[in-house]
Amino acid sequence: MSYELPDKLRNLPKYDPVTEIYRVRLDANESFLEMPEDIKKEILEAISKVEFNRYPDPNATELCKKFGELFDVKPELLTAGNGSDELISIIVPNFLGEGDCMLTILPDFSMYTFYTRMVGARAEALNKDENMKITPEQIIEKADQCNAKLLVFSNPCNPTAVIMSREDILKVVEAVDAMVVVDEAYMEFTEGSVLNEIENYENLIVLKTCSKAFGMAAVRLGFAAANARITNILKTLKAPYNVNSMTQAAGCVILSHKEYLESCTARIKESVQSLYQDMKALAEKKKDIQRLYPTATNFLYIKMERSGEIFEALKKEGISIRNMNGYLRISAGSREENQELVQALDRLLQ
Ligand SMILES: *Cc1c(COP(=O)(O)O)cnc(C)c1O
Repeated sequence: MSYELPDKLRNLPKYDPVTEIYRVRLDANESFLEMPEDIKKEILEAISKVEFNRYPDPNATELCKKFGELFDVKPELLTAGNGSDELISIIVPNFLGEGDCMLTILPDFSMYTFYTRMVGARAEALNKDENMKITPEQIIEKADQCNAKLLVFSNPCNPTAVIMSREDILKVVEAVDAMVVVDEAYMEFTEGSVLNEIENYENLIVLKTCSKAFGMAAVRLGFAAANARITNILKTLKAPYNVNSMTQAAGCVILSHKEYLESCTARIKESVQSLYQDMKALAEKKKDIQRLYPTATNFLYIKMERSGEIFEALKKEGISIRNMNGYLRISAGSREENQELVQALDRLLQ
């Protein structure tokens, strides 16, 4: 036997999330809110009615209906995924051919480019300025120049927490000859969604997730919204039973609790604003904090002197955040968690 692994599977770059459990977990942009007992009970009841010997509904019909009601989108224009991660893993390789160019705007979510290597596509990147901004003209020019077939970015952006305006995004969608994927994982925390524009464009996919504002990271549930033609393609590309029946049942329950979800979003926004204020006060007396970015999300992005050292020192105190060469990304937690973090930083920073 002389089997050789395909080149593309050698030296795979690993996605490297924090896997150790820390006392204070501010590293994954999860919701810090625990689900209330009565909703948990409702979910367990719904799951107990699942027919475990049967395959799930491949179209997740009821789930898409609930999500559609909540976001005012036609359910037939939604494709449910096993987290939006799964939808990214379907879209990127399939909307690119060998040698095609995918354009990203850095810094951004690292998973986008991972799948390009699977189809031998090129990944090109445009860098944001030091305000973590970029103009639509710059994007359009670069997309033109590299003949991009796919443009993917998060808005508001993970990790920068900065948002691009709806008008600017639509300018880009209108001008480029590429499929544009707008990942709105954090849009619940702000305004400027292009979700209601999906039927106006032949080249727009909007991704949503239930993992952040809605506090269901464990459930693994995300959606792609696009016009009927693109949605048909996405539904054909995905594995038929990609969203399991437990997730569909749990999702249907949660997505019916509109007021609860709104209250979660409001509480998280309060937390991130209060953390931002504390950090701003800290920035005034600590020169290690070089820059604190405005946030349209549930986390802060901070340019930090000695970021690696600070990151390690926090870990020793049981506080976990993300270190991204020279920058720290910190998710908003409960009042107590934020307080612990700020007190630790007050001690550690110069
Ligand atoms: C967290 C995150 C996701 C992943 O969402 P899941 O639905 O949990 O897979 C996707 N995109 C961005 C930008 C994120 O930050």
